Amino acid sequence: MSQVLPPSVTKLIEAFSRLPGIGPKTASRLTYYLLRAPDNLTLSLAEALNDLKSKTRYCAICHNITEDDPCVVCKNEKRDRATVVVVEDPLDVVAVERTGSFNGLYHVLHGAISPVEGIGPDDLRIKELVVRVQTQGIVEVIIATNPNMEGEATAMYIKQKLAPLGIKITRLARGLPSGGDLEYVDTVTLLRALQGRGEM
Ligand SMILES: [Zn+2]
Repeated sequence: MSQVLPPSVTKLIEAFSRLPGIGPKTASRLTYYLLRAPDNLTLSLAEALNDLKSKTRYCAICHNITEDDPCVVCKNEKRDRATVVVVEDPLDVVAVERTGSFNGLYHVLHGAISPVEGIGPDDLRIKELVVRVQTQGIVEVIIATNPNMEGEATAMYIKQKLAPLGIKITRLARGLPSGGDLEYVDTVTLLRALQGRGEM
């Protein structure tokens, strides 16, 4: 970074550059935009960033991100507690909720098995899922990990772990764009995949 820039400017450019999908050019553009933006915009952004870490935690039941533990879904008495959708990330929960056709609970793994990235089963919330199934009267687990290599490997691993427990284990129907990310799948396609799920 050029030395003619004040450290407070380069610091923000560098911070933006570390975010996924943001190269040095975009990082500079965002920084200069904020530099000229009204104070209330930069202040509310700073506050939002601060709250993001200080006010959120993981739900003790489903491990989704929440401000209240248990989260709104786990707390909702009207949800079917016998059916659980297993997803990789919190944004996948949003995607499934958007279909408006699922009334059960979730389990957020926080990633997928990936030997390349050094992520093994123990780095995910798989043990917690097994305990949930053993103790919470769960009848069906719908594995909704992403339709890519890591997601499939994770689904197979979970299946092996849950098989001895004698519950129904299903996987979202084929037809999801393979290699993709669940959170980017359109609502109609996801709805169909959910309704057409098959036993593993
Ligand atoms: Zn929860």
